[in-house]
This record gives sequence, structure tokens and C-alpha cells, in this order.
Amino acid sequence: MGARGEAFLGVDIGGTKVAAGLVNDNGELLYKTRNPMNCSRGADEAVNAVREAIDRTIRENPEAEVRAIGLSSPGSVDPRTGTVVMATNLPCWKNFGLAEIIAKQYGLPTELHNDANAAGLAEAVWGNGVGYDSVFYATVGTGIGTAILFDRQVYLGRTGSAGEGGHMSINFDHRGPRCACGKPGCIEYLAAGPGIATRARRRIESASGNEGAKLIELAGGDVSKITGETVEAAWKAGDRLATEVFEETADYIAIWLGNIVDFLEPDVIVMGGGVGNMLSPWYPRIREYLRSWSVNPRAGEIPFVQAKYGPDSGIVGAAALVVHPGQYIMHAPTH
Ligand SMILES: [Zn+2]
Repeated sequence: MGARGEAFLGVDIGGTKVAAGLVNDNGELLYKTRNPMNCSRGADEAVNAVREAIDRTIRENPEAEVRAIGLSSPGSVDPRTGTVVMATNLPCWKNFGLAEIIAKQYGLPTELHNDANAAGLAEAVWGNGVGYDSVFYATVGTGIGTAILFDRQVYLGRTGSAGEGGHMSINFDHRGPRCACGKPGCIEYLAAGPGIATRARRRIESASGNEGAKLIELAGGDVSKITGETVEAAWKAGDRLATEVFEETADYIAIWLGNIVDFLEPDVIVMGGGVGNMLSPWYPRIREYLRSWSVNPRAGEIPFVQAKYGPDSGIVGAAALVVHPGQYIMHAPTH
């Protein structure tokens, strides 16, 4: 039993996997599958991984009428030309015209966008951003991606690179290692999963007594094996050091969002991603602390909500790009 009727095929491309699925025009995920992704064997092999995921989706849903294909990719993407410009996790595609290849092969309208923009669009059109004119979307996971949406349209900027809010620095004097992008003090470097793990390891190194004992135990006694998930597990087991690391993460996010509110004053802030979900017990703290990092006297009124779409946000977001062709995208002028 596969999906039936009109459907939109969403493809979520990552550095290690390709996820694909069918979504109807109500934003319901009807089917999904995934495939390994490996850029180390070259650009064509990586395209084949995308094709395999699309082929399987079509093959296993013979009664679905696929209308269009939406593709989402990490990194810098030019949606006007359907090009992956540069993605750290997909080094085999540089200035690579992926959308055209897929459109030609399947004879279907195809759009390609940055993954956070696509996931943010899904929230604005079908998720917890519905009913708001302006939406600020943030996905916090192994990195931090953001999207700015006005009236259910993705704000792209001059060349399609707007909305890289994860690389806003909140501490230019940061003395530790720099963010992978080269800047010091990016919110991504401080508050995404690897940053949480790094801060936990540093705290353990300077801790006295048996502080963080639970965290070390959960990492199998090896501090270097601590990940964001280990810190979460230790927090849930009542470890104080792990709890403090999460409190600090929540505070970094609040400082960052205070800037966002001053700059954009969105109608709603929607937070997704694995770490974004882990942080949900701290949402009230973030909302409260955000007020002292914003000059906006009404900052505290802005709803701060969890995303509707969890791990499938990439598939649903990619499908959202093509459900009403052109309608949801604020096209940047061409040069
Ligand atoms: Zn950065």
C-alpha cells in the first residue's frame, strides 16, 4: 500500500544520507525512505544516491501522481539557478547545477533550496508558524540554520544567501577555537551539538571533586567521547554539570534571539532540530532571558514555539518548495 493521488516529492540531502518522501498538499508525510550519501566518490555518484532515493519513492508508490520534486541541500545554494554553490558536507558539488539534472531526468518541475529555508517554509505553510505574517525559524542540531519568512515567502536576499543566522557572532572576543566558518563566537559554534559537547568537556577538565561523574560514566569513562546526546542523557540522569551546560546553551540562544528580535521583531519564533527539541524544557527560561537582551519593550510577547516537523522537516520542507510553484518564494532579482 503506497501513497495515492496527487503528491509532491521532497528530497532532503545531507552529507551522509539522502532522505526522500511524498507529501500531500496539506503537509502530511505519506511515505519516506532513506539512502546513504557519499560525496567521496565524485559528483556523479552523489547524484546517483539522490536518483536512487527518488526512484525508490516512485517505484514503491505506483498509485501516487507525483507533480513536482523539491530538493533541499545544506550550505550555500542559489535557488534561482538550482545550483549547489558550496556545501562543506557535500564537497563533490561546487557550483553544481543539481536541479536541472533532476528536472531533465524526471520531466517534472524541480526546485532546489537551502535546507533551513525549506524547513522554515514548511513551518510557515503547514506547521507552527501558520497564522503569523512574519516567522523566524531556527533549527539547532549539529549546526544552526535559520530562515526568515514574510507572508509565507522565504526571504532570500540578493543572491539567495540570506538567513544564515547561525553564523552571527555573539562574542567576537571569544578566545577559544573559531567556528568552522572562520569567525569567532558564532552562535552555531557555541550552541549547536558539537559546541555543547566541547563546553561540557572543558567544564570537566576544570572541575573539582566528582562533578560531571555521571557524564563521564555515560561517555564510557572517555571525556573525548562526550557528544551533545551524552550531555542530554546526563542532564536527564540529574547530573549538575550537564544541567549547567544546557542552562548556558539556553542563555546563549536567548542572547542571540534578543538580537534577532531587535532586528526583525518577528510575529513568532519557531525552533526545531535535535538540540532545539532537547532545549524545550528551557524555552520559558530563554523567553524570559531574551527580554533582557532586547531593547524591544514588548519582546516578551513574541511566541516562542517548538517546530511541528521533527526529523522529517527536510523532506516536508523540500516538498513545500514545489506545492504552489513560485508562490512561496520571494525571488531575488537576477543580475
Ligand atoms: Zn560560523
